[in-house]
Amino acid sequence: MTLINNIPKIALVGPTNVGKSALFNRLTGTRAAIVCDRPGVTVDRHELKVTRPGGLECVIVDTGGVGIEARKHALGEEIERAARVAVEQADLVLFVVDGHREMNFDDLEIASWLRTIKNIDSKRIWVVANKKDVKGFDSSTFYALGFNRIFEISAEHDVGVLELWDDIELQFKDLPKDKSEVEEEEKKVPKVLVLGRPNVGKSTLLNSILGFERHVVSDFSGTTRDPIESTFEGRHGVEWMMYDTPGIRQPGRLERGVEWVAREKLKDVAKQADVAVVVLDAQAGVSDLDASIVGLAVDFGLSVILAYNKMDLMKGENASDLWMKLTRTKDLKLDFVEWCPEVQISALTGKGVQNLVKIIQKVMNDRTQRVQTSKLNTLFEKRIRLHHHPLGPQGRPAKFYYLSQVGVSPPEFVLFSNLPGRAVHYSYRRFITNTLRTEFGFTGTPIKLHFKTAQ
Ligand code: GDP
Repeated sequence: MTLINNIPKIALVGPTNVGKSALFNRLTGTRAAIVCDRPGVTVDRHELKVTRPGGLECVIVDTGGVGIEARKHALGEEIERAARVAVEQADLVLFVVDGHREMNFDDLEIASWLRTIKNIDSKRIWVVANKKDVKGFDSSTFYALGFNRIFEISAEHDVGVLELWDDIELQFKDLPKDKSEVEEEEKKVPKVLVLGRPNVGKSTLLNSILGFERHVVSDFSGTTRDPIESTFEGRHGVEWMMYDTPGIRQPGRLERGVEWVAREKLKDVAKQADVAVVVLDAQAGVSDLDASIVGLAVDFGLSVILAYNKMDLMKGENASDLWMKLTRTKDLKLDFVEWCPEVQISALTGKGVQNLVKIIQKVMNDRTQRVQTSKLNTLFEKRIRLHHHPLGPQGRPAKFYYLSQVGVSPPEFVLFSNLPGRAVHYSYRRFITNTLRTEFGFTGTPIKLHFKTAQ
């Protein structure tokens, strides 16, 4: 974010004729769009400072139309250049589209163009579907542009504008006081949750990573030690949290009392984390409880790394029995996470621990990956669109229109089709997530997939 003088800038961009100026007037409470021309800029780029009743001050910047149509204008290139500067400097971009027609190539082209602009995080691009006073198309089709937020408004008739303001105010509610604070916040530090049943070696692992004895390690399961949950600033730019999971058993069973509390508490902790390192005792093999813990971490949207600990004990006379047991129990209980990376470590000797840290970084990168729209479109056309799907309700043939990434960390996709989500076959869902993984990696990361209907 580039807060200039600590006042957020909100840029309005979009194709020509979608009602940007009307929205500019509505947001600024003016009638005429011309407010204060910047010296030296020969094309339209108006901006005006607004103070909201709640105290928020912001600058609204209007830009000329961009996209394929707009480029046909004599000053098209210049207008686009000016719009690019406005976007570069903006803290929030309102991508205004014509909500009374379907999404078109011009909109898609502008969405790709926006992504090429430096400094702009796509979370700060909101789609505003204008002209919603006219009954018409379902705005959810605009999710295909790949941005998370869509607002339906009518600038002309003042419909939905207050709601838009509410969200803008919320967005800038806790404005940090200075720019360096903001930049600091944006540097994403991986937050790693070390999970596992008692006595698998979580504390030992943490001590090994932190390089000092922070945790009291004990041979007896259930010994009172440090609090069950604790956070540490580690080396390697990683923040670590540790969590014991004594009270959790098989998911799906009736949960009462302790178990329910344990799960709810873990959910709270998981909300702050990105990656779960689930520590397993290699010597003991994989238990039902281990599998439940892995399942919970996936359900909570965390990327998961399976760390098989106590590898130093997997030798000697009964080594082959131990390995057999480990392989057998792993195949039996952890086949639902065959996409999670595994590491073999000995927390006690430190072997494999550096490798674990490297894998965490890789998993973090994959988790925050945003796939280029063009690559996603190609994948959809070549591999997904024509993949067989059983007939839909009333024997209707299933049709798939497009796939769009709407979120990261964990990655989230929407597939538009003519079927309601519940009618999409389970195997087809699996096929899509597997295809996305094969093509783009997403190591260790659960992929969220939603289905939306479009005609
Ligand atoms: P936690 O309950 O998961 O935090 O487990 P601890 O870290 O307290 O470890 C439980 C016991 O396992 C202690 O006696 C540790 O010394 C032992 N332990 C942990 N990691 C290893 C390892 O890699 N190899 C061996 N041999 N013992 C380990």
